[in-house]
Amino acid sequence: MRIDIVNAVKTFKGSERPAINGIDMTVGDGELVALLGPSGSGKTTLLRAIAGLETLEAGEIRFDGVNVAGRDTRDRNVGFVFQHYALFRTMTVLDNVGFGLSVRPRASRPSKAEIRARARELIRLVQLEGYEERFPAQLSGGQRQRVALARALAIDPAVLLLDEPFGALDAKVRKDLRRWLRELHDRTGHTTLFVTHDQEEALELADRVAVINAGRLEQIAPPAELYARPATPFVCEFLGSVNRLATPAGAVYVRAHEIELVPPGTPEARAAIVVAVRAAGPRVHVELELAEGGRVEAELLAEDFAATGFTAGSAVGAAIRRTHAF
Ligand code: ADP
Ligand code: MG
Repeated sequence: MRIDIVNAVKTFKGSERPAINGIDMTVGDGELVALLGPSGSGKTTLLRAIAGLETLEAGEIRFDGVNVAGRDTRDRNVGFVFQHYALFRTMTVLDNVGFGLSVRPRASRPSKAEIRARARELIRLVQLEGYEERFPAQLSGGQRQRVALARALAIDPAVLLLDEPFGALDAKVRKDLRRWLRELHDRTGHTTLFVTHDQEEALELADRVAVINAGRLEQIAPPAELYARPATPFVCEFLGSVNRLATPAGAVYVRAHEIELVPPGTPEARAAIVVAVRAAGPRVHVELELAEGGRVEAELLAEDFAATGFTAGSAVGAAIRRTHAF
């Protein structure tokens, strides 16, 4: 199913600034779109509006072209997963997953046996076979989020809305779950909106990334394009480590890995002094003081840096391979 968000505006009572302020975007049928933005930028509000948990003051949400303003949450057929797993603590995994089906109106409710069979199928899909009779307290955080996802999928939703579903988990588990979710999506093909404030997560997971800032859509594009052609200074600054060059002409940015260190005096390179060198795993961050004024940070492979022979205090050339100007 396709979702059109058309000029959506929502201001909460008592606040002066709209939480979402004229957002226009489309999520294609079967697409996985990440909503990426800092805390407070309106991501959750937009997701809740799609789910029917908030009403818009202007604009529309359309499911397959149909305005859903008149449909309450129950009739929108959305699966929702939040950052903090809201599993029922006194129910087993199997009953948690079957819950959405068991509370359907009698006319459309499957039999108990059918619900259990469907729940088992979903548990297999999220790779938790053998955990059916456990309670949430007997699971790890990552396993609980997979149960939450199975529960959301059990009702066969038209749309899957995931609000920082891995946000409370540690980095390693988050990374594993991210890949796992991508594979799951490729198999099931649900139209999915995935909220995150983690740019790496968004870039790795999504078909397209929508960057939201202060209630507005800055840009929506496939990850590679967002990175190569940021439409606004905000997008450029938000995606990865970037330097702003002091130029009178306007905002000019250069990414840390697009600065190469060359011998001082190399034509086209800017004269600089190495101020500090910080190790960051396989990479190093090299802080440079430019002779023309201003500091920039270069990022390079530790072995490449070692090969230059430069250390703190060295006079170097900073060759800027690429800039982004606005
Ligand atoms: P995000 O999910 O990107 O962190 P939110 O959508 O939660 O952002 O919030 C966007 C803005 O709306 C914030 O300024 C937040 O304080 C405000 N806001 C969110 N929910 C409410 C609410 N129920 N009442 C009043 N203000 C709210
Ligand atoms: Mg939020």
